[in-house]
Amino acid sequence: MYRVTIDTDACDGIFACLTRDDRFAEGEDGLATLDAEGVRREDGRVVAEFEDDRRTDAEQAAEACPPGAISVETVEDGESARTETVEDEASATAGAVGDE
Ligand code: SF4
Repeated sequence: MYRVTIDTDACDGIFACLTRDDRFAEGEDGLATLDAEGVRREDGRVVAEFEDDRRTDAEQAAEACPPGAISVETVEDGESARTETVEDEASATAGAVGDE
């Protein structure tokens, strides 16, 4: 799995990314966004994770982006579900202590 992030503070709407990877699209704000499932906005960034064979497309979009607003990084298995997991572990631990 890999994560694509667009730093919308750095994006200046040149749209070189669109011609490298058609998952990039022009958003209502005139800046790049991602046209894909599970896309979210976090703190001036557009973020989405993918599990497919199109990482090279995303990396080419990142290389083509003049201000370097796009990043592509590997996501370890389970990392995106970390929040839920921490909560589950807390209740599991509480149960274990109670059993002793
Ligand atoms: S190439 Fe970079 S600066 Fe241009 S629209 Fe895409 S993300 Fe924004």
